[in-house]
Amino acid sequence: GSSDAEYDVVVLGGGPGGYSAAFAAADEGLKVAIVERYATLGGVCLNVGCIPSKALLHNAAVIDEIKELKANGIEYPAPKIDIDQLRSYKEKVVARMTGGLAGMAKTRKVDIIRGNGRYIDPHHIEVKLTSGEGKVETGETTTLAFKNTIIAAGSRVVNLPFIPEDPRIVDSTGALALKFVPEKMLIIGGGIIGLEMGTVYSTLGARLDVVEMMDGLMQGADRDMVRIWQKKNEHRFDNIMLNTKTTAVEAREDGIYVTFEGAKAPAEPQRYDLVLVAAGRAPNGKLIGAENAGVSVTDRGFINVDKQMRTNVPHIYAIGDIVGQPMLAHKAVHEAHVAAENCAGHQAYFDARVIPGVAYTNPEVAWVGMTEDQAKKEGVKINKAVFPWAASGRAVANGCSEGATKLIFDADSGLIIGGAIVGPSAGDMIGEICLAIEMGCDADDIGRTIHPHPTLGESIGMAAEVAMGTCTDLP
Ligand code: FAD
Repeated sequence: GSSDAEYDVVVLGGGPGGYSAAFAAADEGLKVAIVERYATLGGVCLNVGCIPSKALLHNAAVIDEIKELKANGIEYPAPKIDIDQLRSYKEKVVARMTGGLAGMAKTRKVDIIRGNGRYIDPHHIEVKLTSGEGKVETGETTTLAFKNTIIAAGSRVVNLPFIPEDPRIVDSTGALALKFVPEKMLIIGGGIIGLEMGTVYSTLGARLDVVEMMDGLMQGADRDMVRIWQKKNEHRFDNIMLNTKTTAVEAREDGIYVTFEGAKAPAEPQRYDLVLVAAGRAPNGKLIGAENAGVSVTDRGFINVDKQMRTNVPHIYAIGDIVGQPMLAHKAVHEAHVAAENCAGHQAYFDARVIPGVAYTNPEVAWVGMTEDQAKKEGVKINKAVFPWAASGRAVANGCSEGATKLIFDADSGLIIGGAIVGPSAGDMIGEICLAIEMGCDADDIGRTIHPHPTLGESIGMAAEVAMGTCTDLP
């Protein structure tokens, strides 16, 4: 049956972009619905992304740290790992967070319409209702009318065409399902997602190979920072294949055989027990009937928006992974708030100077704003200041003296325009550098701010003092 419910705002997609937009619009007093095909809110981030990966990574980091205690005279027996219980821990974390979202939607009186949504014209969306865990369609359809709509339909895993179907070949979702720990694992794609999942599996006992088309892992971060991570992680890898292409994947009874092409590629196909394909994500722009609403979609499936998050159709907004890189949850949430405020009649703009990126590996690698590599490429004159954690008493005490904190200043204005941290909790600390950039701080502002001693976060103040020439903690 078709109810013609009329909403101020219909949000397509219940991920971090979608639910944030819906809740913000409801808080403005608007009548709001979320259309989401899956049983829970939270999208990729909560269900098969940020949160379950961190639930596993936390356990891996604790295991790694306990191993390192041996050098201090504290030795534990090798961990006994009950993979079913670990998986259920991860599932409980996800359930608790998605359950929380359902409650928050209810308090705000946001309607959740369970189904596959497709725009049929600029003011209506048709929803094929779904039930069950997945997105099984019930055969029932409902149509919602809206004054404004916010497209937050996210992205999906890119599948490589030559890869066969086999339970030993997984994407990030399959890797998070944690069915078994392989002896030998290949990661196709040396980006954040692949390396995070590799960290988990390696700590649980897998040997890793990684293949990457570009000339380095963790693209986007400065090489000097990535090198610190790599040195600490060499023990996990048998082979790091850079500038290398994967050209064939064959599933045989005794393993998955993969052929590579590149200067240092092994001549013979290599055998793996598990292959993780982490070669990127594609936006869902072409799958939602955008054309029926008059919304332009790029060839690759992205939807272009202006600084108010408006598409080419003024009452239709788009946010999150579907509008472009970086595909990160915190970017989606901030765009969501802008779109919701505009739906409520305010004049809001997305004008973040910087968006941080974090690899929650061990150690973590976090970066924001201008990198050294980027400055070189773009001819921007910079001053950089690096504080090596070997000079931090807390880092030495914590056994993480290999870490580093780097700040990048504009040479002309002296203002901070970038920064990076490698070490445990780098992701938790990078926020201070983000704030410093947003507030237009120079080295003095940061260096004269009293940071608590002894902390890892203090390294940010010390790096600023390096820039000022007043750091007394370096030889
Ligand atoms: P999504 O989260 O993709 O949500 C879109 C929602 O729309 C989905 O729930 C989908 O079911 C629904 N939908 C789509 N089309 C329709 C339709 N036609 N009808 C009904 N519903 C529809 N980001 C970070 O910032 N930090 C991290 O640590 C991090 N870790 C990650 C780890 C992994 C393994 C992965 C895969 C991603 C990770 N990300 C991380 C990225 C992050 O998950 C995404 O950037 C974020 O989820 C994007 O939010 P979104 O709201 O744009 O879209």
